[in-house]
Amino acid sequence: MKVYKFGGASVRNADGVRNLRRIIDDERQLFIIVSAMGKTTNALERVFGAVQRRDAAAAEAEIASIRAAHEAIVEELWHAPHRIERVEALFADLEAFAGSDGYRPAEAEAWYDRIVAYGELISTTIISEYLRYAGVDNTWIDMRRALRTEQRHKDAEVDLEASAPLLKEAVAAARSSICVGQGFIGGAPDGTTTTLGREGSDYSAAVVANILDAESMAVWKDVDGVLNADPKIFPDAVQIAELNYLDTIELAYSGAQIIHPRTIKPLQNKNIPLYVRPFGDKRKPGTVIRGMSAKVDVPILILKKEQVLLTIRSRDFSFVLEEKFAQIFSLLERFRLKVNLVHNSAVNLSLCVDASWHVGEAVDALRKGGFDVMRTEAMELLTIRGYTDELWERYACSPQVFIRQSTQSTVRIVRKRA
Ligand code: ASP
Ligand code: MG
Repeated sequence: MKVYKFGGASVRNADGVRNLRRIIDDERQLFIIVSAMGKTTNALERVFGAVQRRDAAAAEAEIASIRAAHEAIVEELWHAPHRIERVEALFADLEAFAGSDGYRPAEAEAWYDRIVAYGELISTTIISEYLRYAGVDNTWIDMRRALRTEQRHKDAEVDLEASAPLLKEAVAAARSSICVGQGFIGGAPDGTTTTLGREGSDYSAAVVANILDAESMAVWKDVDGVLNADPKIFPDAVQIAELNYLDTIELAYSGAQIIHPRTIKPLQNKNIPLYVRPFGDKRKPGTVIRGMSAKVDVPILILKKEQVLLTIRSRDFSFVLEEKFAQIFSLLERFRLKVNLVHNSAVNLSLCVDASWHVGEAVDALRKGGFDVMRTEAMELLTIRGYTDELWERYACSPQVFIRQSTQSTVRIVRKRA
């Protein structure tokens, strides 16, 4: 059994879906994980935003445009307007749910999950139907029932032990040797829909690979493989042929958009290789990530955008040390802030965190807890692994730099957005 994951960009239009069919052509035992088509998740986030503002008309308009985009893809795939009843039923559910006036701010995250999950439910339904139409027998798997997550919305972790029997049972019951399941979504113990964090489909695929003891997992992407930097930002980017799990985790955590940071652990635990391959050309080798690869010999540059720098000091000038750390971090955990860099002195603790809904709430809570907090927006975190003198000169010494932390091989720079 192999696991293939197709991201939103690779199934953003009818050509992409046809290409998916070509890629899986010679495979017999396959579990396919698919994301929402194109930018559908962003559009569904706007639906959720409208529900939150209680703007029913805006929610309805947004759903109508999502529906039109999917109908256009279906029409192109079937070469004529074509009704897929299960897709229509999903849109009807979404409309009814978004249009009901049961929204409660206290349940915001559960509502978010319920709404954005439709992207994957719809994409997989269309793709499963299309594959059948194109002669590929397959079974649609409802991942809300097959992956059991923790009871936490918007960024849930999968409970591997609880999921294993559910997923295995679903695969055993499938009539075909090809299964199609949604990335990004699962079900909580209370039966509600959960999501695994934006870009979480890679993680879904890795969990499936782990549970089914897959021989390999492949992520089909709109790039040739993993590069040492984002070519849009660093023009000299080159492709890396092989990476080990450890480097990959560090890269993903530092913000390299190779794969979701949680993807590696389930694969590493069962020693399953991960291939990152170009969707556009099946003959190209891409990048392989596995346990035993050598260290990479080019510098790697990763830029994490949308950062906020918090500088925290206790109001009475007492030291910000262990006990205060514990207080501050448990508060950050409560507001689910993602801390990417920690820098401390006797009285200051500086934290570089992902910009999110909750930064403001966390800052208020810290202030109530007796801390002065300075908040600097519009920051970025640049990590350079294997830096050279030239890269150090260029990036670590610029006047935009607020914090610079280095070891012999890696430098991390918090800087003002250019
Ligand atoms: N559709 C989700 C997103 O756009 C999950 C994924 O693509 O992996 O974040
Ligand atoms: Mg995506």
